[in-house]
Amino acid sequence: MEKINLFGLTLSQLQTLCQEQGFPKFTAKQMADWLYAKRVLTIDEMTNLSLKVRSQLNDIAYIGRHFPIDCQTSKDGTKKYLFRVTDADEAPQHVPHQYVESVFIPDGDRGTLCISCQRGCKMGCKFCVTGQQGFHGSLSAGEILNQIFSIPEFDLLTNIVYMGMGEPMDNYDNVLHSTQVLTEPWGLAWSPRRLTVSSVGITPMLRRFIEESECHVAVSLHNPYPSERQQIMPMEKTYPITGVVSMLHDFDWSGQRRISFEYTMFKGVNDDLGHAAELVRLLRGLHCRVNLIRFHESDAVDLHTSARPTMEKFRDYLNNHDITCTIRASRGEDIMAACGLLAGTADQQ
Ligand code: SF4
Repeated sequence: MEKINLFGLTLSQLQTLCQEQGFPKFTAKQMADWLYAKRVLTIDEMTNLSLKVRSQLNDIAYIGRHFPIDCQTSKDGTKKYLFRVTDADEAPQHVPHQYVESVFIPDGDRGTLCISCQRGCKMGCKFCVTGQQGFHGSLSAGEILNQIFSIPEFDLLTNIVYMGMGEPMDNYDNVLHSTQVLTEPWGLAWSPRRLTVSSVGITPMLRRFIEESECHVAVSLHNPYPSERQQIMPMEKTYPITGVVSMLHDFDWSGQRRISFEYTMFKGVNDDLGHAAELVRLLRGLHCRVNLIRFHESDAVDLHTSARPTMEKFRDYLNNHDITCTIRASRGEDIMAACGLLAGTADQQ
């Protein structure tokens, strides 16, 4: 029988496991404490569980914690970690697509980690290196969380963004469970405002996520004109951005919880004031912010970076029309860690 990975299980999943195994009821809470608050690596370290329970657990389960196998550091201090996914343990080292990347971005007293939720991605966004790779599997909740728990900067983390490889709404349950481990009292008990989950806008799943979690949400927008957006984001055909925005109007964003839109700027494609005006029309009445992202050119993608003054004009236009807009600082470009550049390859080893 295949062993169960305890790491990443929610309290209710641990309770079910304990019930099935005939363990005392309180064991599940103790296990969650060892796994998440105390961050142990082995079942034997769970010393307030009886020897009998630990031995039984060792027979059927393990703690799937894996340290990164590589780390590259940018000249700006950004670090890109490479993880081998646990379900690929038996695969030979050279097999591609067995890896995911996470990016640690230090910024004064803030430490942000951008994590991946899939190996590759099905969404096929034309500007994204991950999208060019196709889809090779979803990560379990434990594999998603392992990227957070297993880096040396764990204690420095203030924010987690689900903006690495993959589409979070295409791996719904595992992403939701991972946010629960981070925010529930039996887990790390972090404020959900420390987490931002991004999506291209898979409308029904995004609606569900907004209803079931308290995390911030970011939608990848990149073009307000449906026909143009479809050319760079094939999912526009199935889930039009107008429908995503109309769904978002059903929720109240005027409090602490934030909805933001990511807008990567491509030279001559989506960066003129006509696009800015259409964006204002599209987002009218929604309490939101727009983050402009400098496009990072790569050989894999035939699109180019907008000039800085063009981006500033676009930003000023939005700010002058009541939409809070900032140009996101670009980090880690020299190590292919910037937005849209994560490839999850082991070439650098
Ligand atoms: Fe997938 Fe995000 Fe890349 Fe689009 S931008 S292909 S959703 S990883």
